[in-house]
Amino acid sequence: MSTVGCLILDFDGTLTLVDEEAGPFIKAFREGLSLRLGEDLSERWEAIAARIEAQPDRYGWEHEGYIVAPAHADPYVLARSIGQILLEEAGFPPSKRHALLDELYLASYPHAKTVFRPEAQAFLEACVASGLPVYVVSNTGGERIKAKLENIVPHLLHAIGIKGNARKFVIAPPDHLHPDWRPLWEALPATCSIPGLTRAIHLHRGHYFALLTQIWDETRLSPEETLVCGDIFELDLAMPAQLGAQVHLVFRPQTAEHEKRAARSARGGGASPTLKGLFERLDLPG
Ligand SMILES: [Mg+2]
Repeated sequence: MSTVGCLILDFDGTLTLVDEEAGPFIKAFREGLSLRLGEDLSERWEAIAARIEAQPDRYGWEHEGYIVAPAHADPYVLARSIGQILLEEAGFPPSKRHALLDELYLASYPHAKTVFRPEAQAFLEACVASGLPVYVVSNTGGERIKAKLENIVPHLLHAIGIKGNARKFVIAPPDHLHPDWRPLWEALPATCSIPGLTRAIHLHRGHYFALLTQIWDETRLSPEETLVCGDIFELDLAMPAQLGAQVHLVFRPQTAEHEKRAARSARGGGASPTLKGLFERLDLPG
């Protein structure tokens, strides 16, 4: 396996335990949606969750007509996927559905608890001590990530590059594409498929691509020298793997087998249920 010269970490679900955090978020999200629709959603919510579970490939987080992550990726994505179906059935057109779900998501996210993985602090300390450049690249806002990291590694904030609002879910070209990175973008196929998933995975995630290339410009490293870690293969890892980066899936008990397989079979790929797998992979003490 190639040497790792730079580490890029997703935040929610990768450094944190989303299933323990999301309860109050789900409650707020569901109440907000219930108010908008003027009905008690308790029964329909569960029925739609069961429908999604029965046909997981058919549903997902939709953004501008594309499924960008599987519905069962984490509790946040599941809530959003259920919300999409409820609004669709209530007759809301796609643009209104997305705007309303974005609004509900932003209003509900502050309710989520912060529960770091038990080994997150030691892991970040060991990574920084090893001299590896460490970045957090997440859809969550940078200030919010910083405030959360302050709880466990206030002494390391200066050493961790935080890039929030990564918009990994946007399927579009980057806003600005430096000529140096044009060949890499142009060589990126629009989609890929993985065994076990019947729909294609979209790879043209231009905002995410721009942030990754920014990091490669800052570190003067290549995709091949970078390890990208995330908890959702489709959202966090599929594009970086295609760009040549090494990838590692930190999975949940509910993560689909095909996602773990895809992460493990990528070149320079790996997967583990906790961050301990990364200690081993990076040969970190602890
Ligand atoms: Mg995540």
